[in-house]
Amino acid sequence: MAPKERVPSILTHPAVPLALGVAYGQRYVSRRLLLAGVGASILPDIDSLGLSLGVPYGDTLGHRGLSHSILFALLLAVAAASLFRTLRASRSAAFAVVLVSCASHGLLDALTNGGLGVAFLSPFSNHRYFLPWRPIAVSPLDVDLFFSAWGLRVLRSEALSVWLPFALLGGLGFLIRREPRANPQGGANGRQPCGSERERMSAAAASRRSP
Ligand SMILES: [Zn+2]
Repeated sequence: MAPKERVPSILTHPAVPLALGVAYGQRYVSRRLLLAGVGASILPDIDSLGLSLGVPYGDTLGHRGLSHSILFALLLAVAAASLFRTLRASRSAAFAVVLVSCASHGLLDALTNGGLGVAFLSPFSNHRYFLPWRPIAVSPLDVDLFFSAWGLRVLRSEALSVWLPFALLGGLGFLIRREPRANPQGGANGRQPCGSERERMSAAAASRRSP
């Protein structure tokens, strides 16, 4: 396995939090939480730095080791949940979005056709896992190699295997979230008031009632 491989490309992992943001909207996934999700989806590849420092690929701290594990994603999600006010989201949303964003990184890596597998159970086991179906082409670490026929092949496979399905899922969630629209009590555009609008309206009504 050539150490110049990273999978999938760092540009593709944010497809998961972006799809969550589109599907659930800003009521659930605030801009800050979306940014945190994007960061969590990329963060596991920080172990790529170890390659240049001489950490062996297959080591616990090697590429696709501890930082790609389920435990790492859980700890990151707990940290995000504790910062829910800073992230301007509910505690459960902060936990769920960061957990899914980070854990999906390892799953996407396990769908690739190159490198070692992913140490999902690290640090308890350094066994490397792949999923049975591996449609995503391995991505080069080397920037020069990325702008080559290899890079184009990677982008094409990631577009079809990652971006397209997550765009469809995000769009489907968006459409479901927007239903039902046609409500005669929802104002001129038929839109129902969202949660924060309802809270503002009930607070205004309460202030009118109070002497
Ligand atoms: Zn990775």
